[in-house]
Amino acid sequence: MTRRSTKNKTNITRIAGIRVHEASASFVCIRCSALNFVNVGSKLLTPTEAYETQSWVCKECGFVHSKTSALPQKNKEGKKLPFAFWLNAITAANSIAAQRFWKAFFTTATENRDAYWKQCNTCGRKLPARAFSGHSAWGALEKQMECRSCKAVINTNLNPKRTKEQLHESAVKRRIADLLLVGENEKLNFEELFKRFDGKCFKTGKILSIKNRKSWAIDHILPSRWLYPLTTTNAALLSKEANDNKRDKWPSEFYTNDELKKLAFITGSNLELISSKKPVVNVDIDVNACLTRMLNVRSATDIARRIKELKKLLEDNNIVNKLSKQNKRMLGYSK
Ligand SMILES: [Zn+2]
Ligand SMILES: [Zn+2]
Repeated sequence: MTRRSTKNKTNITRIAGIRVHEASASFVCIRCSALNFVNVGSKLLTPTEAYETQSWVCKECGFVHSKTSALPQKNKEGKKLPFAFWLNAITAANSIAAQRFWKAFFTTATENRDAYWKQCNTCGRKLPARAFSGHSAWGALEKQMECRSCKAVINTNLNPKRTKEQLHESAVKRRIADLLLVGENEKLNFEELFKRFDGKCFKTGKILSIKNRKSWAIDHILPSRWLYPLTTTNAALLSKEANDNKRDKWPSEFYTNDELKKLAFITGSNLELISSKKPVVNVDIDVNACLTRMLNVRSATDIARRIKELKKLLEDNNIVNKLSKQNKRMLGYSK
């Protein structure tokens, strides 16, 4: 029997060796005017860090751009550069003028987060961070690995249906799960939530105002679609934007390992569970109580559809066997 090779979702080859969360700064060489890109890794530099720590070598002429370099007087061909008309004392590396120059040089290259570049792992182009859609709205690095153009091509040509259906299915699942969980959710004390999270968005560190209700949201850390109710231990404070990105993602898909550890420490949630790679259904939920409540509370107008969706949820989550005899019978699982 022939073995089938593994295929990724889209069959598009990815360019190997491009690290997802790395960004590049760019600069023009002050000696030869060549355009250069410097990979700064996965943490963006502040202008001060860049000035203090970086030495950027021009790939064309080898000139080292760092605070310990004197300003060049001549280019490669020996032609005088504008700096040549400065006094010697001014172009020397340790002069005040040269230091001011280097500060300005590194500030220009690093201060604007949008000015960093990323390489698309599909088309291979190096593009401004802005050309990648954000998984999150807060930085050059938390961006997708393919550029918007490639992503649009992938979505429209290769898997338009899948995306739409998936979105619909997950919306249905969440809606029905939310109905099922009514009555299991705790009423949260917002002031305590703010205290626990130091008044800041847990993901971005943005300072939030409890009074501006539209600017913040409560992350259901373990999502309701896997049957976790909202409780004090299952709630994180996020900015509106961060929460829009989290939606009903499983925690380890959204938070970094360090964040997961911190989150478990702050909320008392189970670290092993929240950092598991794949979603785990909440088997501790009292399905029968939830079911009774849902059927009593909700109006019966679209009950047939609701029951169908509910059954799919129970089946997908493998919890049909948790139903009481009576409920099994009522839902048509036994006679
Ligand atoms: Zn150069
Ligand atoms: Zn691309």
